[in-house]
Amino acid sequence: MSLCFDLAPEQKMLEDSVWKWASAWLEPQMEKLYEEDRMPPDLFKELGKLGVNGIAYEEKYGGAGLGYVDTLLVYETIARVSSALSMTVGASQTLCFDNFRRNASEQQKMDILPKACSGEYIGCLGITEPNAGSDAMGMTTRATKSGDHYIINGSKTFITNGPVADVVVFYAKTNPELGPHGISAFYFLTKDVKGFSVDKIHKWGMRTSPTGLLTFDNMELPEENLIGGYNQGVAVLTNGLCTERITLCGCSLGAQRSCLELSIKYAKERTQFGKPIGSFQFIQGKLADMYTGYMASKWMAYSAASYCDSLENKTCGKGTDLDRKAAGALLFCGEMGTRIAENAVQIHGGYGYCSEYPVSRHYLDQKLWDIGAGTAEIRRIIIARELLRDNFQSGQ
Ligand SMILES: Cc1cc2nc3c(=O)[nH]c(=O)nc-3n(C[C@H](O)[C@H](O)[C@H](O)COP(=O)(O)OP(=O)(O)OC[C@H]3O[C@@H](n4cnc5c(N)ncnc54)[C@H](O)[C@@H]3O)c2cc1C
Repeated sequence: MSLCFDLAPEQKMLEDSVWKWASAWLEPQMEKLYEEDRMPPDLFKELGKLGVNGIAYEEKYGGAGLGYVDTLLVYETIARVSSALSMTVGASQTLCFDNFRRNASEQQKMDILPKACSGEYIGCLGITEPNAGSDAMGMTTRATKSGDHYIINGSKTFITNGPVADVVVFYAKTNPELGPHGISAFYFLTKDVKGFSVDKIHKWGMRTSPTGLLTFDNMELPEENLIGGYNQGVAVLTNGLCTERITLCGCSLGAQRSCLELSIKYAKERTQFGKPIGSFQFIQGKLADMYTGYMASKWMAYSAASYCDSLENKTCGKGTDLDRKAAGALLFCGEMGTRIAENAVQIHGGYGYCSEYPVSRHYLDQKLWDIGAGTAEIRRIIIARELLRDNFQSGQ
């Protein structure tokens, strides 16, 4: 059992190549992009050139054939520069395309995944609706069968990448009378449909990551666009949520690491009362708290990812250890990330409140990790449900 976070040589190379790209290509643009709330249009093509778009997908689809630990490492490394753009990458590559990879037919996968890997296609995943957030099963988007196609009506909100997506994966009720067992998953290419529109949602944090309200107004989809089988949407959705929660921890972890590194540097450089502020015990205490918080978050996230990689069948949901570990990892990373970013701003004083200092962006972005991918309250509900089940063994 190795618990010391030593990366294998290939993982070190992966981290180094993503970091080299993020610090040289992304970082210099970030302040302006954040100000304008604009995603760099060639983001996914850049990642395609780096070979990290389909990190967990099989090589026959253009992927790297690696796992969720490697995916987490890539998201963490991007998030050292931008948690928001790391989330955008995760929403496309994990929420949308990885979910698609795990559930679509071979033909569907061959049609879509190579273009997801090259960066030609950007994806989004639509679960949340204006009146169904935490209660996702209360969705009302309806897919009505009509001959050999479906008619879709309804809407999805807060959808990351909605305004820029080429491919949409979403859930709709196919048999509303069956409740959660009457949900199906679908996908479509935005260029191929009529009756679909997107409105951009404006946010105070996570700027640069485009968020949209998707509206389906009598949108027609051929029945081939069903994924994972008729009324099989719940399994697709719950299994996807675990890998989503685990890998999105990287978006918080990278920002935590950046907050710590920037704060150490600033504490050494900034002098007050004739001394570096790092000589004051109040500042030292914050740095120590940030370090221990980051290391603990890292353990929660990477151990969950490693556990997930070890499972042949990554089934999630009620009665699985994976559900508890995934919810626990994101719960911890989210709440710790918010505290670490707050400490980083405090160490930077007034400068930390100015947009030219990256800690200000981390501070704005981190709050999302208490909300997105199931709120902190919902994660606690999942963890407690699993702790209280009959065969739970503490220490797992
Ligand atoms: C920037 C951003 C990006 C997002 N990206 C996506 C995306 O790509 N795809 C997607 O489908 N969704 C996305 N979401 C949606 C996100 O997953 C939801 O916002 C989240 O699940 C909460 O739903 P809600 O906002 O409707 O809040 P609600 O469910 O209305 O919750 C409001 C409050 O009530 C609490 N609450 C609700 N039920 C309970 C309960 N049973 N017990 C205790 N407390 C409860 C919640 O924890 C919360 O504090 C995104 C959201 C944001 C802000």
